[in-house]
This record gives sequence, structure tokens and C-alpha cells, in this order.
Amino acid sequence: MYLKSIEVNGFKSFANKIVFKFNHGITCIVGPNGSGKSNVADAVRWVLGEQSAKSLRGSKMEDVIFSGTQLRKPQGSAYVAITLDNSDHSLPIDYNEVTVARRVYRSGESEYLINGTVSRLKDVYSLFFDTGIGKEGYSIIGQGQIEKILNGKPEERRELFDEAAGIVKFKKNKAAAE
Ligand code: ATP
Ligand code: MG
Repeated sequence: MYLKSIEVNGFKSFANKIVFKFNHGITCIVGPNGSGKSNVADAVRWVLGEQSAKSLRGSKMEDVIFSGTQLRKPQGSAYVAITLDNSDHSLPIDYNEVTVARRVYRSGESEYLINGTVSRLKDVYSLFFDTGIGKEGYSIIGQGQIEKILNGKPEERRELFDEAAGIVKFKKNKAAAE
């Protein structure tokens, strides 16, 4: 499984539709300070269901919507879609390609889509359990996070190992059954 593309439209500094396409291997995003590099990683965390505006470096969820500049008017909604190659069926869904999308309006209204079908946040979470990709996964290591992992409580570190060992889905199912 690998990330094939990220589409952003009205998300943070991305006023209009932009599609980042990736191939196998390593991609580096470079640019001057404040040009939007970290916003790309924020977009991925957001589409995976991040609920905390603070961890997206904002104060409220509306802050993810393009707020306008002197030359451009603000957008009414933010949209992000990531497409993953799933030809090895790492994700428990019967498609070779999986697109997860999220949209939020200024009114606060929002929705998630999995391959175009309106889905619950819960469905997005369970799609990525034990893959390391979820919003709590280790596939995105933010600035300062290494320190947090090293200095974290044993229980928090345990969650990381559970994810890597692939037992999160069993624990979640058990909790739901109880
Ligand atoms: P650095 O090299 O300093 O880490 P960076 O390339 O990671 O910089 P980001 O933090 O991704 O930069 O981008 C910050 C920019 O995004 C700022 O200029 C900020 O004004 C802009 N930005 C953030 N949220 C919005 C928004 N809702 N609307 C418009 N612009 C936004
Ligand atoms: Mg940055």
C-alpha cells in the first residue's frame, strides 16, 4: 500500500484545487518558511479524522478553511482527499484503490467519504486500524512528537506498540462488545 495522491481545495493556504501525485519511493517537499509544507501533513491528518484544531495548529476547526488574502477572497469550505494504492489489500476493503475524503463548511457541517460513499468518522478510523496510518498512527511524525513519544507515559507508548503489533482492532471490538 502506498499514498498515490493528496487533493486539497480550500484547505489552509491552498485556496484552489491542487493535486499532489506520488510514486513509489521517497518524495520530499521543500519550500521557504510559511509556504505550506506542514499544511500538506496537516491535510493528511485532517482527512484521517483529526478532531483537534490545536494539533492542526489552529484554534477552531474553521481555521482549516482558506481564510483569504489581500488578493483572494476566503473559501466557504475545505476539502481534502487522499488516494491510496490498495492492490495488496492491506486495507480491509474490496478495492484496489481507496480514496478517503473530508469536507467541512463554515457552518460547521461536515462529511467523510470513502470511495465516494458518505461514511461515518468511525468507518474512517476502522479502515486504518493497525496500519499505522490513522490519525494516531506513526506514519506522520510531527515536529516535537519524537520527544513526546520518548517522554510519554508508558500507557501512551503502549498504544503505539499495539498499533504496530496489529491488535488495535481487537481491543476496539472488545471495548464495543463490553
Ligand atoms: P516552515 O518552514 O516555517 O515550517 P511551512 O512551509 O511548514 O513553514 P506552513 O506552516 O505549512 O509552512 O504554512 C503556514 C502558512 O499557511 C502561513 O502563511 C499561514 O498564513 C497559512 N495558513 C494557515 N492556515 C490558513 C488559512 N486557513 N487560510 C489561509 N492561509 C492559511
Ligand atoms: Mg513547517
